[in-house]
Amino acid sequence: MADRTQAKRKADPGEIVAVIRRVLAENGRDYIPHYAVAAVCMLAIAGTTAFSAWIMRDIVDEVFYRQRWELLWPICGAILAAFTIRGFATYGQAVLLARVGNNIVARYQRRIFDHLMKLGVGFFTLTRSGQLAAQISQNVTGVRDLLNMTLTSLARDAVTLVALVVVMVMQDPLLSVIALTIGPPLIFAVNYLMKRLRRATREAVEINSRLLGAIQESTQGIAIIKAFTMEEQLARRMGVLIEHAEGRANRIARVSERLAPITEVLSGFAIAGVIAYAGYRASTTAEPPGSVFAFITALLLAYDPARKLARVQVNLERALVNARMIYEILDIEPHQGDAADARPLAVADGRIRFDGVTFSYGEGLPVLRGVSFEAAPGRTTAIVGRSGAGKSTLVALLERFYDVDAGRITIDGQDIAGVTKRSLRQAIAYVSQQPYLFEGSIRDNIRYGRPGASDAEVEEAARLAHADDFIRRQPDGYDTMVGENGVTLSGGQRQRVSIARAILRDAPILLLDEATSALDNESEARVQAALEQVMRGRTTIVIAHRLSTVVNADHIVVMEDGEVVEEGTHGALVARPGGVYARFHRMQGKPGDLLDPAPADRAVVRPQPQTAGQEGDTG
Ligand code: ADP
Repeated sequence: MADRTQAKRKADPGEIVAVIRRVLAENGRDYIPHYAVAAVCMLAIAGTTAFSAWIMRDIVDEVFYRQRWELLWPICGAILAAFTIRGFATYGQAVLLARVGNNIVARYQRRIFDHLMKLGVGFFTLTRSGQLAAQISQNVTGVRDLLNMTLTSLARDAVTLVALVVVMVMQDPLLSVIALTIGPPLIFAVNYLMKRLRRATREAVEINSRLLGAIQESTQGIAIIKAFTMEEQLARRMGVLIEHAEGRANRIARVSERLAPITEVLSGFAIAGVIAYAGYRASTTAEPPGSVFAFITALLLAYDPARKLARVQVNLERALVNARMIYEILDIEPHQGDAADARPLAVADGRIRFDGVTFSYGEGLPVLRGVSFEAAPGRTTAIVGRSGAGKSTLVALLERFYDVDAGRITIDGQDIAGVTKRSLRQAIAYVSQQPYLFEGSIRDNIRYGRPGASDAEVEEAARLAHADDFIRRQPDGYDTMVGENGVTLSGGQRQRVSIARAILRDAPILLLDEATSALDNESEARVQAALEQVMRGRTTIVIAHRLSTVVNADHIVVMEDGEVVEEGTHGALVARPGGVYARFHRMQGKPGDLLDPAPADRAVVRPQPQTAGQEGDTG
């Protein structure tokens, strides 16, 4: 993400048009009726504004100069009507555009979320979630503004300006020439400011996203921050970011507000010039002053739309940067989709085979080399090895978060590369090391395992996972809301909720990444009992960190540096003279050297934000 957004593209003048065209092509058609009505409202605004300038001549010449008092009432009536129409048209236009705008925001939020769900796991390991969310929320409004501003500036301000210029030219062509000389320098100034603003805007969005992301990450890791007394260090780092963001925002304000003095001074020149020349002319000729009054009224009224049009360019520039950043996300190809001839996986008894599997992340060295082993149906296979040996990668490949570089993985003889991802993942229940709970109630969180499950089934799964009793003790029982990371539940409780989710899924294959974090003995025993329940009768592959899990497994696969170095039962492996497993097992009391990273019987505090909920708040 970062490298993509930081690759600053050269500003291309045709790009505004290209992006607007794309936004229009993707959304415009659905809003044509709304936009048409809004445009009619804006034309009414332009027309009534021009009318109020036009009528000045008759007011001055006919009513006051020639004293035709009978015209007074019709003229006043017309002015009242014009302002009434203008009021309602302004209301209609504003409400319509706001509704369309909100709909566009909703539509892009939906699109982006759907798109993110399609992207591979790889994208998310490279992207900071907090930053991504902040970027989306900042940028999505840009697309809305892009459309609304284009329409408002074209239909209302541009038409109003043109109508007023027509009034000016018809009333007094010579004065019009004087007034319009400020056009070219104004256009030049706007173009100059736009270029400077483009860079500053992109930088501002990026810095703000980093800032918001950092705040989110800090709140997630609050226990670690307190435990390591990192508050001051973090505050210093945040301080730098905040200062940066503030400076950037000030720069944007300085650059974009520079427009105000430029337009004011130029307008001052125009208005003063017109009045000076009109005054001089009035002193030499005896024309009635009506047309000059009408002209000056039109000129003063034209000032507002002209100022808005100048500003819309600058604002469009900002919206354009936002829209472009949104499209950068939407344009990421979700690769590694299903093969064209992919069939649904048909699980018979759930025999899993890795056959010479080799894999590397991106361009790096292979993290798995020629891995072969079999996980027998209905049995438990434990994977052990040091941290970094490639255990989690095995699980990721079986879920097809990534595709293998060589070799193949089969389930009941079917290569998983040739089956649909959906059917593959539906056959697997996954219990991760960090039991993540999603926004919602405990019931919702268990039901994610199988959306169609009834309340009774959810509760039965919780009972099997030894979670039912503590859930019922929560203030609202199953309907208790759990926040981010489920902070109201203990680590062991969260693990049991996620095990209940896996039990409810009732999939023939279970992938289990055993938690490395230490639990108290009682929680530990309950989690263990829950796990035994979910493992029963399923083909289970467990990344084991606890000696008891390994000893009880039907089969043990020992990994080192991306290769399988030994396999067998606990008894057979221990008996192997000189074996890796036997050597580590002999160092009784230090099984953690093999069953890395943290053994169950040693409480190790390590900076892993996800374990935050288990630690007490010392602050
Ligand atoms: P284990 O689960 O045994 O600790 P992993 O499978 O997580 O090991 O990691 C194996 C190797 O792959 C490690 O060297 C690790 O640095 C690397 N690795 C893991 N995930 C990624 C990733 N998303 N991108 C690049 N390298 C990774």
